[in-house]
Amino acid sequence: MSEENKEINEVPQTEKTSSTQKIVTKGLSDLSPIRIVRYVLIFLCVLLAVGVWFRIKPASPDAKPEEEESAEPSAEPTPLPNELTDPASVTVLVNKTHALPADYVPASLVTPYVLSISDVIQVNELAADQLKAMVNAANESGVTLYLTSGYISYETQDDYFNDRASMVGEAEANKVIAKAGFSEHQTGLAFDFSDNASGTATTVAFAETDAGRWLIEHAWEYGFVMRYPEGKEAVTGYSYQPWHYRYLGTDVAKAMHDIAPDLTMEEYYQVN
Ligand SMILES: [Zn+2]
Repeated sequence: MSEENKEINEVPQTEKTSSTQKIVTKGLSDLSPIRIVRYVLIFLCVLLAVGVWFRIKPASPDAKPEEEESAEPSAEPTPLPNELTDPASVTVLVNKTHALPADYVPASLVTPYVLSISDVIQVNELAADQLKAMVNAANESGVTLYLTSGYISYETQDDYFNDRASMVGEAEANKVIAKAGFSEHQTGLAFDFSDNASGTATTVAFAETDAGRWLIEHAWEYGFVMRYPEGKEAVTGYSYQPWHYRYLGTDVAKAMHDIAPDLTMEEYYQVN
């Protein structure tokens, strides 16, 4: 046995199984100049083939999916943060795009005991203290402010919408009344106000009453924003409703007011 064969026999067990490797190793041992030239030529041919392959590759259809992949994420809508999607969140987004589950009822509904047109109005406990503080502050400053609506169940909203739609048609009804599931009132965090005990102030004229003006000036201080301001129909999907306010908490309401008094939730959170 030659010295070289000994070496081959001594390679680890796994490499022993490769018979081609043995041949190559053996072949390399007796290299003549002609063989070296042949190997160099084969090597150059392989190098050329690889070079040609890489030049062709970018133009091949294989390149396409990469471009599509990089374009894909921007085409998909950005997922909303939890504070906007969790129905129990004080800033849950409810609009014509984002609905609440039909069976959603706020965890805690309370009677606010403020000046209102009805004793049976209930509100989300998260907003109750600030609602009381706001209505009392208005009344104490000589402005009569009545609460006319708070929490509205999915079923009741369904009745309201169908009643209106039967009178003016579904498209017209949809401008003022939300379909069931799409109403903020189902959160118990949206409120309608009036300046009179009959609660008939759900017209744009409410904005010019003492109560309407007081709310425009002070509601944000208590964590409330006018949800459907004038001129924002294209953003909110609703006509101007100066009587409808949404509780978002004092931090968010102040931050929104600091940017612009008529900023909408959709603009603030840059969603639709
Ligand atoms: Zn309302």
